[in-house]
Amino acid sequence: MTANGTPLLEVRDLRTWFPIRSGVFSRVTAHVKAVDGVSFRVGRQETLGLVGESGCGKTTVGRSILRLVEPTEGTVIFDGQDVRATEGSSLRDLRKRMQIIFQDPYGSLNPRMTVGSILTEGPKIHQMGNASEIRGRIEHLMDRCGLDPVNHINRYPHEFSGGQRQRIGIARALSVEPEFIVCDEAVSALDVSIQAQIINLLLDLQQEFDLSYLFIAHDLAVVEHISHRVAVMYLGKIVEESPATELYSNPRHPYTKALLSAVPEPDIQRRRNRILLEGDVPSPINPPSGCSFHTRCPSAGNRCSLEVPHAFEVGSEHRSFCWLEDEAGVGSTKVQS
Ligand code: SF4
Repeated sequence: MTANGTPLLEVRDLRTWFPIRSGVFSRVTAHVKAVDGVSFRVGRQETLGLVGESGCGKTTVGRSILRLVEPTEGTVIFDGQDVRATEGSSLRDLRKRMQIIFQDPYGSLNPRMTVGSILTEGPKIHQMGNASEIRGRIEHLMDRCGLDPVNHINRYPHEFSGGQRQRIGIARALSVEPEFIVCDEAVSALDVSIQAQIINLLLDLQQEFDLSYLFIAHDLAVVEHISHRVAVMYLGKIVEESPATELYSNPRHPYTKALLSAVPEPDIQRRRNRILLEGDVPSPINPPSGCSFHTRCPSAGNRCSLEVPHAFEVGSEHRSFCWLEDEAGVGSTKVQS
């Protein structure tokens, strides 16, 4: 995972539940269990792809790590520091090292600020040099991100295309010299050809600035080329995690297989029979008992609605949370190592 074996980010048993209030006294009557016991690690200069259908909790995972929403339970350790126990100026320093790129770059860019103002805002807040030093660094970053420092720096976000706006969003994230970036559906709103350009840019920037990414997407095809490892989420939980190449060649969990079968595949050798899942994703307010996928799983058995499956090691760094692995006689582990 890393040169010295220590992850940059470690998330253990993360839960983020949102209360639902009702009645005259606004009592909490239920919770939306958006994230319900998620554990993973991200190494230095590593990309973990986090994939699942819309509403599975992956965006909440990214925001909980950065404390843009407050987790309910669990541990987030960034470079040895307990993120949930950090407050005040220490939290501000930590946030400088952990940035986010949003899906909708237009919505996240202040329309009344020029590109230059947007990009210098963070470095000024964090006092990262005098005005000319910051300006010089921002111009270099714009150039690296495929923007023209001379012609673009005094323009406003609405004057740019979607792809260019995402380049501004990337440059803004990089402006405070982070080590870790949550890319939250960062290419999902873009055309396929622009998606490829932005992914290639993120790969180049990772090399140049030694970055680690949590790359969130709903489409397995998108994360394949950027991720070293991939975690698949369903209804607030990770159901499979694996090195990327292994996941695509040897998916184990029925949900991963269904997602992969929907990926358009030009290579006839890799084409899969389409697995159509019946029904809708259940409500995270009242998730199904046992394996939360059992209401839609084509392979569900009696045990699946009764017991929550734990992690089964099915290969090197490859884990699947499915009782089928028990029947296959694969070694298992109950806790995240
Ligand atoms: Fe399907 Fe059962 Fe495996 Fe869940 S535990 S994915 S319901 S076979």
